[in-house]
Amino acid sequence: MCPRCGAKTLFAAPAGLAEECASCGLDFLTLERGGRFVGVLTMLLALVLIFAALGVDEWLRPPLWASLAFWAPVTVGTVIGALRLYKTIWIYHSYQGSEE
Ligand SMILES: [Zn+2]
Repeated sequence: MCPRCGAKTLFAAPAGLAEECASCGLDFLTLERGGRFVGVLTMLLALVLIFAALGVDEWLRPPLWASLAFWAPVTVGTVIGALRLYKTIWIYHSYQGSEE
């Protein structure tokens, strides 16, 4: 959701921000600048998931197809969800900062 007008224009792709609000023209790219730590957090999250996957593999020894069928969507879903969450929080944080 756009922090200024509340329209659902924040994301142009599942995990990609739109360049600006299609409704009120608020510039999301400028607000996002400085939020690059998001990429680092996502990498860390992916690493944690990979180690979790390896741990479960050692523990249950499931067939490879079962591991892939389970972990591929879990990893993609978690990373996309986390990216959206971080970016939304960051945009709102930047927007409040820029209004003062
Ligand atoms: Zn807007």
